[in-house]
This record gives sequence, structure tokens and C-alpha cells, in this order.
Amino acid sequence: MSDETVIIGGGPAGAAAAIKLSRQGMPVRLLERKPGPHHKVCGEFISYEAAQNLKELGLDLAALGAEPIRNVRIYNGENELTFDLPFTAWSLSRRLLDSALIEQAGCAGANVALGTAVKQLSRTHEGWKLVARSQSSAGQTSTELSAQTVFLASGKHELRNWKRNVKASNRYGLIGLKMHFRPSTLQQAQWKNTVEIHLFNGGYAGLEPIEKGDVNLCFLISQDIYKACGGNWLRVLNWLGRTSSHMKQRLATLTPRWCDPLAVSGIPYGYIHSPNDSVPNLFSLGDQAAVIPSFAGDGIAIALHTASLAAYVHTTGGDSRTYQQLAFNDLTQPVRNAEVLASMLSNRLGRTAAFACARLWPTLPREMVLRTRVGLSHCMQ
Ligand SMILES: Cc1cc2nc3c(=O)[nH]c(=O)nc-3n(C[C@H](O)[C@H](O)[C@H](O)COP(=O)(O)OP(=O)(O)OC[C@H]3O[C@@H](n4cnc5c(N)ncnc54)[C@H](O)[C@@H]3O)c2cc1C
Repeated sequence: MSDETVIIGGGPAGAAAAIKLSRQGMPVRLLERKPGPHHKVCGEFISYEAAQNLKELGLDLAALGAEPIRNVRIYNGENELTFDLPFTAWSLSRRLLDSALIEQAGCAGANVALGTAVKQLSRTHEGWKLVARSQSSAGQTSTELSAQTVFLASGKHELRNWKRNVKASNRYGLIGLKMHFRPSTLQQAQWKNTVEIHLFNGGYAGLEPIEKGDVNLCFLISQDIYKACGGNWLRVLNWLGRTSSHMKQRLATLTPRWCDPLAVSGIPYGYIHSPNDSVPNLFSLGDQAAVIPSFAGDGIAIALHTASLAAYVHTTGGDSRTYQQLAFNDLTQPVRNAEVLASMLSNRLGRTAAFACARLWPTLPREMVLRTRVGLSHCMQ
């Protein structure tokens, strides 16, 4: 039996855990199914707590080309609400962020295997047996691995026989789409240090500047709208442009970077791993631990926070149940707050009420931002 901790998934959760464990001198094997840097559906908003965690992991966001984000502009149809964030956040493409973290994991001493997908995970009386498949120029190879402890950080991807215990009430009917655009020089100034959120029935769209002057558009729409557009990207964009004149103006002059958008569906918003579902020697991190409504922009922070927590518990001899309980305690309130907010903002009446309240109490939006953060108090200490 190998004494390596095997980490499944090289997103922010898996890579951060690999860095933390390696720094403590623990042998780590990080398995990532993608062979190299890749884009992911994400608003690419890096919240303050996430940025603090990344700094601690050795990443210099400014040096990577990330854009500082200090202001928020929210649209409800033609109505606009602006406010300053209670902190500085950042924005960087996931392609750059995730690959920088994986590189850092390798530098910290983790054994990183890219292009290696775990196909099977099964319990043995000593620990775990994994079957992984790697793709190389020589073809496909299957490898069997054993480990006492496994960190499951496969994000939205479920591992066969180890699916999250998702409740039917978690919102499954949304599709997430993302595209990078090149704005005109005039438009670039419009997004300087600013994230825009455009609200509409059933979903929202986020626009923010990323590295090299590009802009990321990431939005959630209902499957019904997607189907009504025949799943056609240009028709979906056309639909989006009709949600407000502001959105129409944004889309009119942006030049897409790719031919087709990235898409994701079946996101179990509101899912939180219950400590009662804990499995000995299996630590579930990141999206496998909890899925916060994405407009809160805190999924990366959750990934990094749970990675820290799991690494700490594991290196100090704690078990997976202790870790899942601590994670549950930290994640439940921000996820629930974000759910209430998401459900309120997804209908016209709720949005109108929220805008009216924000005008009466101008500190309210900042308060809401703070109440949907995970691990912020640790960072502020
Ligand atoms: C529409 C949308 C917008 C979002 N916007 C934001 C935002 O602006 N800010 C924010 O903080 N969060 C945002 N999020 C959430 C954020 O993207 C996730 O919470 C975050 O990526 C979770 O990190 P992770 O490491 O758990 O999973 P992931 O980033 O998904 O990484 C999992 C990794 O595991 C690998 N993998 C999967 N299965 C296997 C396997 N069997 N073997 C080996 N490797 C495997 C995958 O290839 C992947 O690289 C958004 C999410 C959505 C859907």
C-alpha cells in the first residue's frame, strides 16, 4: 500500500491541496484528466478571500496579468445600480489560474500526472484502489494505484459510484455558457476595475475584464430558453441582447475569441456535502464539498478554503468526518445566503424589491457581498 495521498482533479481545490500537503512533506500524487491548460465555464471573478489564499500558495495574481476588480455594476433591465466592493477582487482566465496552480503543485514536490483520468475508485480493507487511464502519443494506458487516503476534487464531474448526494431541490435546469471577447479600445475603459452583472428572469450574465484586455462573458439561462433558441449560440446571444439595451450595446461591438462557447449544465446549486455522508479516508473538496450559486463568485474561494482545511486535518492526523464537519460548518451559511439572494434576484418582483432596498440602504449590497463569502474572517485576521 502506497503512503501517497492521491488527489483526483487538478482544479483549484485539487492543486491547492497538493501544494499544502507537499509543503508539509507528505507524498502526493495529483491526477488531472486534461493533458494541459484548458478553459472552464466560470465568471473568472477571484474574490478577496480566494486572492489571499492564492497569495499564500505562492501565486502573484498581478504578475499573471490578473485585473483588479473594485466596482460592481448591476442591471435589472434598464435600471442600473453601482457600488464599490468592500475589498479588492481580481479577474483572470481559468486557463491561466488553474495551470499556474498545477505548476506550483509540481514545484512544491507533488507528483503531477496530467492527461490521467480516474475511471474507478473502490475501497479495499487497507484503503483505496484506483484505476486511471492516461493518454499519450504512444496510445492509451491503464494503471492501477493504491492509496490510504484519497482527496476527491473532480469538481462538477462525478466519479462512477461516488456521486454527490444531491437533493432534487438543487437547481438543475440551468445552462452555463462562456465566451471570451476582444472589446474595442473604447469599451476596454468601460470595464476598467469593474464587474457587471445583468439580471433577468431565471438567470444572469456576468461581464468582466480579464488578462490582455479581453472580456469574459459568462451567463446562466434556463434550459427552456436554450432549447427555444435551438441551442444555437448566435440565437442565444440575440436573446441575451434583448434582455436590456445595456446588454445589447455591450454585445454589439465585442469580437468573439473562439468559434463556439463553452457550456455546462446540471449544476447542483446549493449542494453541501453532509458530514453524515462522510466516507473514511475520502476527503471531498471544492465543488464536491459545496456548490454556491455562481453569481456570488465564490466557488474558487470554496475550492481553496476546503483544500486548506482538508490538508490541515489530514496532516494533523484528523479523519475525513472531522474535515467534512468543519467544511460543513464554514460553508453552510454563505451558500444558504447566496441561495436566498439568487432565488430573489431570479424573478422580476424580487429584483425590483432588491433594487428599491439597495437605494434606501446603500450599504446593503456590500453587506450581501460579505455575507456570501467563505473564510473571509480568516483572511481579515
Ligand atoms: C456559470 C458558472 C460561473 C462561475 N463563476 C465563478 C466565478 O466568477 N468565481 C468563482 O469563484 N467561482 C465561479 N464558479 C464556480 C467555480 O468555477 C467552481 O466552484 C470551481 O471551479 C471549483 O473548483 P474545483 O477544483 O472544485 O473544480 P474544477 O475547477 O471543476 O476542477 C476539477 C478538475 O478535476 C478534473 N477531473 C474531473 N474528473 C476527473 C477524473 N475522473 N480524473 C482526473 N481528473 C478529473 C477536471 O478536469 C478539472 O480540471 C462558477 C461556476 C459556474 C458554473
